[in-house]
This record gives sequence, structure tokens and C-alpha cells, in this order.
Amino acid sequence: MQKTAIFPGSFDPFTVGHESIVRRALSIFDRIIVSVGYNSNKQGYFPLETRLEWISNVFKNEPGVEVTWFSGLTVDFCRKKDARFILRGLRTAADFEFERAIAQVNKAMDDSIESVFLLTRPEHTPVNSTIVRDIVRNGGDASKFVPPGVKLGEFKP
Ligand code: ADP
Repeated sequence: MQKTAIFPGSFDPFTVGHESIVRRALSIFDRIIVSVGYNSNKQGYFPLETRLEWISNVFKNEPGVEVTWFSGLTVDFCRKKDARFILRGLRTAADFEFERAIAQVNKAMDDSIESVFLLTRPEHTPVNSTIVRDIVRNGGDASKFVPPGVKLGEFKP
């Protein structure tokens, strides 16, 4: 049976840390659906369309990766996509506590879906989307924290 994982997140924007998790997980799953969670009450900094375009650039030569968005519960989206796995990355103990609660609640909602965690590479531990946004807002160069397909320099707020 094909193993499909949803990699849900805000990806505001997608970073080298996110990219590394997806590429490493390709040795575990046949198909990974990078899914930008959309919440109309919490628009985020980069528009949804921009985030999707950038992530699609990153994986344009990777047939095992799909890029899309969803709203609502991740477990409902997993069922819709016939995915039995939720992929997440862990950087720190704080990530673990946050992810533990979400994964246990997801498991309570749908026992057939497993959350799978990959530990970040040490060099990616300090990389996060909030810091990238702060650098961009203040006119700095955050390009080393994002994959080349994420064209921060072309973004006009
Ligand atoms: P969310 O808003 O759902 O936390 P994020 O876009 O911040 O979404 O992150 C999506 C997933 O990627 C989460 O599991 C997060 O822990 C993981 N992640 C974020 N940054 C990194 C990184 N530098 N290395 C590994 N995993 C990361």
C-alpha cells in the first residue's frame, strides 16, 4: 500500500529546516503532501498563494512531493487525501511538548492516523519562520535560511 504523509504547517515562509524534513522523509514515505494550513482569522505574513508558489518551486523536480493548502482539522484533511501519517519536525524540548499534545489529540480523534517526527539536523535547530519574517520586515537578508525557490527578495508587501 502506498504510504502517504501530510506535512502540515504555516510555512510562513518555508525554510531550509522544513525542506530538510521533507527530503529526509522521502526515504520513509512514497508521497508527501506539504499542506499549508489556512485560517481566515489568522492571515499570516506572506500571502497563501506566495507560500504555495515558493514551496512548489522547491519541489518542482520531486515527483513524490505535492503542495497544497487546507483549512479545518488536519485529521479531516488526512482522510480526504487518504493519508495515514502526519509528518512533523522537532527542534527542541519546547517543540516536543507542543507536538505531543497535538499528536495525542489527533490520535484520539482518529486512531488510524500516526504522527511521525523527525529530529532536526543540528544546524537547522535555530531556523524558524518567525526569525525569517523579522529579518525580512527589517530589510535584512534572510536568504541563507530559506531554499533558493523561496524568493524573499521578490516579495513586495
Ligand atoms: P506550525 O505553525 O504548524 O508550527 P510551522 O510552519 O512553524 O508550522 O512548522 C511546521 C513543522 O515544521 C512543525 O512540525 C515544526 O516543528 C517543523 N519545523 C519548523 N522549523 C523547523 C526546523 N528548523 N527544523 C525542523 N523542523 C522544523
